[in-house]
Amino acid sequence: MYRRKFLKLTGMSVSLSAIGTKVIAKTIINPPKQQNKPIVISTWDFGIAANQAAWNILSTGGRALDAVEQGVWVPEADPKNQSVGYGGLPDRDGFVTLDACIMDEFGNCGSVAALEHIKHPISVARKVMEKTPHVMLAGDGALQFALQNGFKKENLLTKESAKAWEEWYKTAKYQPVVNIENKLFDKVTPQKLPGNQYNHDTIGMLALDSKGNLSGACTTSGMAYKLHGRVGDSPIIGAGLYVDNEIGGATSTGVGEEVIRNVGSFLVVELMRQGYSPEDACKEAVMRIIKKKPDIAKNIQVGFLALNKMGQYGAYAIQKGFSYAVCNAQKNDLLISGKSYY
Ligand code: ASP
Repeated sequence: MYRRKFLKLTGMSVSLSAIGTKVIAKTIINPPKQQNKPIVISTWDFGIAANQAAWNILSTGGRALDAVEQGVWVPEADPKNQSVGYGGLPDRDGFVTLDACIMDEFGNCGSVAALEHIKHPISVARKVMEKTPHVMLAGDGALQFALQNGFKKENLLTKESAKAWEEWYKTAKYQPVVNIENKLFDKVTPQKLPGNQYNHDTIGMLALDSKGNLSGACTTSGMAYKLHGRVGDSPIIGAGLYVDNEIGGATSTGVGEEVIRNVGSFLVVELMRQGYSPEDACKEAVMRIIKKKPDIAKNIQVGFLALNKMGQYGAYAIQKGFSYAVCNAQKNDLLISGKSYY
């Protein structure tokens, strides 16, 4: 406690070896006097359009929970976005299966995994949170619940995604591609593999509303050409998303298996609780992944994005090219290239 106080008072980056301990050095930030609110941040380039929808709610005094739900509706409904919702690339057997979760300022959460035929899995997740005693519904049960609650059954496999899958099927090689969504990275995107053009990526969104409350949402079609029934990190509370209204929120994108193994988003929030800045907390979570499996980490992408209670934000990824979008009254559609290990 004493040490933490001391670091907070100094308000700068301190190597703790200087005071005789082995704790990892971190940047202790001086909290701003006022919350930077409202604000919304989200993963990847497609976060810009999603943030705009969220901002319509936040800027008129709306609740962060409504903002994140409406925000992620944008990529969920976009057939051109082949890694989220409608138009998402299918699994190995040609089925589009969606993962999503949502969490509010009271610690309530809801989630759906491997859900088929429903365009807005995030809203089914919210219904699970609000209308059931459970947190997570999966597969057929999730679909049945959605249909009982008025959601429409739709074909989510677009012609483009069916074509990509047929192309992929010729070699049927499961090979996640790094940073495929990212415009900032376009010039250096190395892989052009059959059927793999939009291989994975998730929208994770975090918002702080004008009342100072936090919520988050996370939704994806997961890794393209995954095994049927595979569930990633995105619908798992603590892995793909975590929100603690006292501290902040975090979300992730990239190869979900590594995020689950490290309970990534929960870890980021807990590090912020210990005084880490959002970026340093994301960095530490990335370093855990790299440290445990350096050979795997070399060839995959995982990125974390975090927002603290004061409205400060940051991100960190294994590989270059992880972008995120920020929207508040000053920075309406800012796209930031997050820092990375490689
Ligand atoms: N995290 C997602 C999954 O593993 C994919 C991604 O965000 O790239 O399903």
